[in-house]
Amino acid sequence: MAQTIHDAAIIGAGFGGIGAAIQLRQLGYDDLVILDRESDLGGTWHVNRYPGLAVDIPSSTYSYSFEPNPYWSRLYAPGAELKGYAAHVATKYDVRRHMRFDTVVEGAVWDEDEQHWTVNIAGGERLHARLLLTATGFLSQPAFPDIEGIESFAGTVIHTTRWDDSVDLAGRRAAVIGTGATAVQLIPEIAPRLAELTVYQRTAIWVTPKWDGAVPKRVQKLYARVPLAQRAVRTVGNGILELIMVAGVLKYRRTKLLNRAVEKMALRHLARQVDDPETRKKLTPDYTFGCKRPTFSNTYFRTFNRDNVHLETSPITRIEPDGIVTADGTKTPIDTLVLATGFNLWDTNFPAFEVIGRDGKDLGKFWRARQFQAYEGVTVPGFPNFISLNSPYSYSGLSYFTTIESQMRHMKRLLGEVEKRRASTFEVTEEANAEFLGRMTDLVEDSVFVNGSCATSRSYYFNQHGMATLLRPTSTLNAFREAGSFPLDDYSYA
Ligand code: NAP
Repeated sequence: MAQTIHDAAIIGAGFGGIGAAIQLRQLGYDDLVILDRESDLGGTWHVNRYPGLAVDIPSSTYSYSFEPNPYWSRLYAPGAELKGYAAHVATKYDVRRHMRFDTVVEGAVWDEDEQHWTVNIAGGERLHARLLLTATGFLSQPAFPDIEGIESFAGTVIHTTRWDDSVDLAGRRAAVIGTGATAVQLIPEIAPRLAELTVYQRTAIWVTPKWDGAVPKRVQKLYARVPLAQRAVRTVGNGILELIMVAGVLKYRRTKLLNRAVEKMALRHLARQVDDPETRKKLTPDYTFGCKRPTFSNTYFRTFNRDNVHLETSPITRIEPDGIVTADGTKTPIDTLVLATGFNLWDTNFPAFEVIGRDGKDLGKFWRARQFQAYEGVTVPGFPNFISLNSPYSYSGLSYFTTIESQMRHMKRLLGEVEKRRASTFEVTEEANAEFLGRMTDLVEDSVFVNGSCATSRSYYFNQHGMATLLRPTSTLNAFREAGSFPLDDYSYA
């Protein structure tokens, strides 16, 4: 029996994968298969369900520009609304029927003879597709801390990506390890329910005030009736985010004063909210604002004024069946361990599974041996018909949707050319890729990552070699413009 060759296989049914599928459908690719290891669509917004989860980019901006949602309940919508929005878009654009869940991709191999990709699925199944697109996310491989004795812990262990609502926290003695953006949202929500909460902080996070609020029904109705009104709000939101990103992060060398001003604002916020001077000192970051992903909250700092909440900054030395022991010799008895320890980007991601291109070229090994790189954050030489949406230098701006829509535009231009030339394969040239990598590497030199004081920040913006290869060091406007105007000869077609 002849094997089925799909037009494209997309791995990941989050916002990136949904956007790519919409673009492919618009280009006439009808036989798609979208595979996801989870039991439903939504990516990060399906996986993360912890109390307090909300988006921290204004919702009118954190959404597809071509599918505005007038009905966000708050300026920063709660997580469940994001998941609902993903489902709405997938249904409306008719890409849901291509999705297969509970399907774990273990690897993909380019078949040079047949000119297609073979996707290997756990359990032995194989799929074939002319195009392979990975939309597996940046923050999708949970990090579990390698702490001595952690496996011996006899109580309940919950990672924030596997929140278990059936666990009743009332009256428990809990520990939260980690103080990233997730912990900042979670801690104020759970603290009042617990008997005791000890927060283990290794690196303090910069936290600024959050200007949030419910979107009144009349404003939602206005957005529904006059989409231009919401578009104006989106534009303002995009503009502010762009300013923060370009001035505060990418061009830090010339705009240090802006970061200092934000640091001062965050320190005033801390001083206003935390009573105890010793706790305030512990919560004060010792690295430049922008080195590490900051966040905002009006409730996080205040939580440390509660009698049942303790901040521990002595390093954890081991975990015992009934408690945590720190370097100062203290043992804190606990019955519940919450791991707000984030994600592993650079070891178990990039790529999220083995991808083998032309002549056996292994993408993960290539990136690790030869520097993380991807032309326009999308394609890699040696990998024909492969679009890698979560690549080094691909994340542009602060709202993931600016990245997604630039990448959709790149796909449109590239695949349009493939069609025009009646080609069956495309591949970025070595020269174009080298030029882009050189340009990105030079631009990073202006950023906070090189010019700020980042040594103690332990930031996931840096890879294991200490290089800041995650964010595209240009404005989102530049990324969007290049996605629609890159030289078509930067690719070879066959
Ligand atoms: P994260 O920022 O990587 O934070 C992980 C925390 O765990 C850090 O404080 C880290 O300390 C700590 N940690 C990890 N391993 C540890 C160990 N062995 N011992 C002690 N501490 C350890 O992860 P996250 O908080 O889940 O946030 C990840 C990203 O998700 C955010 O930056 C943001 O981009 C996104 N996010 C977005 C939203 C939103 O939009 N609403 C909400 C939450 C998260 P070190 O800093 O010392 O490594």
